[in-house]
Amino acid sequence: MAAVARLSISPRPHPTLPAERGGAISLESDAAEYAQRVIPRDVAGMSAEIRELARKRNAVILAHNYQVPEVQDVADFVGDSLGLSRQAAATSANVIVFCGVHFMAETAVILSPSKRVLIPDLAAGCSLAATINAEQLAAWKAEYPGAIVVSYVNTTAEVKALSDYCCTSGNAERVIRAIPEDKEILFLPDMFLGTYLEKVTGRKMHVWPGECHVHAGIRPADIDRARAEHGDADLLVHPECGCASQCMYFKASGDIDAERTHILSTEGMVRHAKEHPSRSFVVATELGIMHRLAKEAPQGRFYAASEHAICRYMKKITLEKLLTSLRDDVFEVTVPEEVANKARGAIQRMVEL
Ligand code: SF4
Repeated sequence: MAAVARLSISPRPHPTLPAERGGAISLESDAAEYAQRVIPRDVAGMSAEIRELARKRNAVILAHNYQVPEVQDVADFVGDSLGLSRQAAATSANVIVFCGVHFMAETAVILSPSKRVLIPDLAAGCSLAATINAEQLAAWKAEYPGAIVVSYVNTTAEVKALSDYCCTSGNAERVIRAIPEDKEILFLPDMFLGTYLEKVTGRKMHVWPGECHVHAGIRPADIDRARAEHGDADLLVHPECGCASQCMYFKASGDIDAERTHILSTEGMVRHAKEHPSRSFVVATELGIMHRLAKEAPQGRFYAASEHAICRYMKKITLEKLLTSLRDDVFEVTVPEEVANKARGAIQRMVEL
């Protein structure tokens, strides 16, 4: 058995994670809770009401790939952060209802300052975005004057305002390659994505030691098990995963079929499955994507690398809350104008690349 490449940096704790269940966040408990969730009895009736309210209010409903199935099904657009940012920038609707997490709704506010942006639950945060704040970034920048700051989109508006570029997993590689070779790069906040980017671009960067608790929870052992159970399946791995660097290593060493191992954004996973409709796939990311994959590539067979990969923040949004949001005009997301103006340049560069 080949040795496994490991990250040598220690992750930052997630300062905003609630001190529930003895202070520890547990993917197992979150997954068990999600499995027992109550799906509304009248999904069709509620969805019709939501569509009618959206029509009356000239609202567009944007849903992230990790949303619950019934929210994905009622949305105008389903996609990853980059795709939804593009939709938010281009829409002619008066209202954007963002079914995703808070930093995504902030990005929509920044790109469409004249629109009213709503999020159905203000508690939809992000453990990764919470690993760095503006003060920490300012101090880090002071250590490396002249360095280019590349922030993954999972950051607050204040952090984006201090960044030169913003990126998503869909365009991160292009963003890094676009930066002149003689510039130092500070990459934040995801250490797995940062390490992955260093490997594919050959570019040394300073990487912030943050992680998403869901993707970090998909461990190399999960991939080993999936490979053993579904040897003929394509392996689709999100670059935020704790197993991503192991997969890169296996690929490079020839220990797994390089042709059938793909490090992809969620949008890239959907595209890949549609291009190879009758294959089997092991999927290493948050499980909300399984609904979209099954819908858009119905002949494919999809297996989760980890059945526990459930994001408690994405799952805060429900059909009931979406209906209330449109009906009662809650909860508006705002970004101070000065912060938005500073953050807009970095985000626009992301959307354009
Ligand atoms: S899956 Fe991770 S990165 Fe995505 S919203 Fe949830 S905590 Fe944040």
